[in-house]
Amino acid sequence: MFSKGKQLLSQYYCEQSHFTHRENVFSSNKKQNKNNGMYMMDSVPNVTFNDIAGHEEVKKDLQFIIDFLKNPQRYKKMGARMPKGIILYGPPGTGKTLHAKAIAGTSGVPFLTVSGSDFMERYVGVGAKRVRELFKEAREAAPCIIFIDEMDAVGGKRNENSNTEKDHTINALLTELDGFKSSCDKDIVVIGATNRIDMLDPALTRAGRFDRHIAIPLPDCCDRLEIIKVHSKNKPISSTVDLENLAKITIGFSGADIENLLNESAIIAASSEKNEIDNDDIENAFYKITLKGNKKKVDHRHRFELEIVAWHEAGHALVNKLITKQSIPKVTITPSTSGFGGVTFIIPEKTGLLTKRDLINEVMTSYGGRIGEYLLTKNEDLITTGASRDIKQATSNIIKIIKEFGMTEKFGMLYMEGIRDFNQNEIVKEASYISKSIYSDTLQLLMDNCSVLEKIAKALIEKETIYESELDFIINSHIKKTA
Ligand code: ATP
Repeated sequence: MFSKGKQLLSQYYCEQSHFTHRENVFSSNKKQNKNNGMYMMDSVPNVTFNDIAGHEEVKKDLQFIIDFLKNPQRYKKMGARMPKGIILYGPPGTGKTLHAKAIAGTSGVPFLTVSGSDFMERYVGVGAKRVRELFKEAREAAPCIIFIDEMDAVGGKRNENSNTEKDHTINALLTELDGFKSSCDKDIVVIGATNRIDMLDPALTRAGRFDRHIAIPLPDCCDRLEIIKVHSKNKPISSTVDLENLAKITIGFSGADIENLLNESAIIAASSEKNEIDNDDIENAFYKITLKGNKKKVDHRHRFELEIVAWHEAGHALVNKLITKQSIPKVTITPSTSGFGGVTFIIPEKTGLLTKRDLINEVMTSYGGRIGEYLLTKNEDLITTGASRDIKQATSNIIKIIKEFGMTEKFGMLYMEGIRDFNQNEIVKEASYISKSIYSDTLQLLMDNCSVLEKIAKALIEKETIYESELDFIINSHIKKTA
């Protein structure tokens, strides 16, 4: 199995965010009101922008709200119209709630929070009544911030099947927003958060309503390092742990995932009665979170299985190193209890625009695992089920090449989903043709470099895990010079 690219990683992390432990940063001064089933916190949170690592651009974007809440007169004198509502959007756990709290904390104003799903009721009119109550409470507490989490639950797109209760609730929200010329009239700032801004009803996001949209993306490597530093501050981390490397390999992690990883590492260290959190604890926690299982002892495996896994992972790593400039921080044959035999961690070279060659290289890297296995025995009957996830990923790429990106000569630039009666069999035939051709190129590449493949596999069997410097050393000192 190889773990590569944001798409794949974000899949893991979306799934795992269900059980992400969220620290309540301002529990110390929290005062909760229970208002018709909705929980609101009407005290000033003791969170500021200093508690948020990275995201410097986002903080800059949000600074004007703080300035407005602190100096409303300056804005009013200028006749400035503040946005009535602000939407923070981005993947789960990226810190949308944290940013909203920090705005309130830094401005020194109360923070009223509610989840969009709290408005949704079976009984017509209940949600609308709750919206009115929320704004009434906010007017009493003003200047303040209203934070509506899971905005899509209350403000999702309406269609002909929408239920009346939802319509009433959205309308109540729109009425409240329209009720003040701008949020600055009442010194109330309404902030909504969602993972899916595209799901929101256009009536909510149009100019004059929630018209300021601020993206809170997954952190990049520098931001991850800052987040790691924040969440390791209160933990005894061993000096042998390389935080920069940890930031590299946590690609695709949200801030909440990082907090969860360090917390899990601390639990593992404490349960082993250690004084410090070391690399082993972090690695165990990493396995738990990304592969949903615990690290297993490698030597419990049968020798043949060990060799198969080593040749499989060596295949992924070598193909990727030969055809791309991507970084591979780690290759391991340490299995997990969730069924992975080993993992090759690959850091994507670029994000954003991908070429057809990039997509084909990904497929070749996927196929490198199965081909590595084959080259160990050269017996088709001994290939294993270990490539199932690789096959899934490669198939998805090939289908996208054909159907989504219009990159085949056979079909041209057609967006298949937009065609009613396209022939599915023809697509399967083309996908199978592309797959076999990429397989054959990858096989040739690995056969040409079989001695290097063997060296990597042997190093894995001996050491269980190898890091980039050793991998590069093996490849560079044994590679067949083609030029
Ligand atoms: P969701 O979309 O799932 O509601 P969210 O985007 O609102 O998530 P938060 O609840 O704000 O995310 O973040 C959860 C936790 O993740 C925070 O309490 C904090 O521990 C950690 N976290 C996220 N981003 C950062 C960051 N930039 N710096 C420090 N900690 C962070």
